[in-house]
Amino acid sequence: MRKISQIIDGKRKIIKKPELLAPAGNLEKLKVAIMYGADAVFVGGKEFSLRSQASNFTLEDIREGVEFAKKYGAHIHVTCNIILHQDNLEGLKNYLKQLDDIGVTAIIVADPYIMKIAKDMHLNLEVHVSTQLSTLNSQAIAFYQKMGMDRVVLGREVTYEDLRAIMDKVDVDIEYFIHGAMCIHYSGRCMLSNYLSRRDANRGGCSQSCRWYYDLYQDGVLVNKEDDMPFSMSSKDMSLVHHIGELIELGVDSFKIEGRMKSVHYIATIVSTYRKLIDAYCEDPDHFQQDDFYEKELQKAANRALCHGFYFDHPGVDEQLFNMRDEHPTQEFVMRIVDYNHQNHLAKIEQRNYFEMGDQIEIFSPHHDNLFFTVEKLYNEDMEEVTKANHPMEILYVEIPHRVLANDMGRKVRK
Ligand code: SF4
Repeated sequence: MRKISQIIDGKRKIIKKPELLAPAGNLEKLKVAIMYGADAVFVGGKEFSLRSQASNFTLEDIREGVEFAKKYGAHIHVTCNIILHQDNLEGLKNYLKQLDDIGVTAIIVADPYIMKIAKDMHLNLEVHVSTQLSTLNSQAIAFYQKMGMDRVVLGREVTYEDLRAIMDKVDVDIEYFIHGAMCIHYSGRCMLSNYLSRRDANRGGCSQSCRWYYDLYQDGVLVNKEDDMPFSMSSKDMSLVHHIGELIELGVDSFKIEGRMKSVHYIATIVSTYRKLIDAYCEDPDHFQQDDFYEKELQKAANRALCHGFYFDHPGVDEQLFNMRDEHPTQEFVMRIVDYNHQNHLAKIEQRNYFEMGDQIEIFSPHHDNLFFTVEKLYNEDMEEVTKANHPMEILYVEIPHRVLANDMGRKVRK
């Protein structure tokens, strides 16, 4: 039985805070995720990992990531969730041993052989069952627990009611998706991309064919007319921003954010928003009142409309992007703060997207509330005045009247 909360100084407090688990496709994203509040980050190694395009971590990168994470008390999980073909077996044991030596906290696996040898080798790292196995019930979880697995990552298709029943019946760690893209099919069981583009979704090559536009024919007659939006099976993204309290009270061990291919800005925004929400709820769960701040923050980085996924039931028409274009972020990531001079109020910045004099910028940070300013003084690296920032990654200086910190980020407020 999980003990979730306790009365401390006359006030109920959450003592079993869930882990906030973020994705990272490279070292920069890993560091940003941790600086913006992730307790753990999952990455894909170059070997034995699905989503090969999002998996560019060499063993040296993983080592650097683990060292960085340690400084923040955070953890690194490495996906080894390839479905092994016969020719994938070679080198596997050696790879797992090296991950263990580096100090990786957990590997995420889908193939029973990797589950078995990871346990037979008596490694220190934990073995987590990947969402690729679509685990949706307590009996399946008990099976994996019997095999010695340390955690089960549930399929996105688990509803809240099913999750509640599961949490009552199992005592192995449970990881649950709270935010990110949805597959139109059961995650990991889709052949659409294989058929249409010869790119294997189960070996990391999904071409997102479900999100393509299609002409629909019935008995050889085109159903969608020229003026109609073409048909797409694309789903809205999932966000459980309004249900975080319920999930904390269930004792879910880890809240997972999806999206190793997403940008640094996306990761910083989504991670910091859920960090603030989880912390605020845990501090005073009985008086927590959720305003619309959190949802509005998420929408600044969202690139699709949001829905509840499977939380209540099977997603219906309203959860799909039928006849609808994808939504775009309400704000655009334009700068990262490198340094700030308190005397002259000049911030040294790294440019990320175009902005110019007169633009209104919102600075956000894991350490302070959002700040706003208008670009009125802008200089290049030689301290010559410029009117626009149009070279990616260029170092510039901009006057900001508020105190900002290294690694804060700036978004252009769309007019
Ligand atoms: S094609 Fe769509 S449903 Fe299939 S694996 Fe790719 S994203 Fe998922």
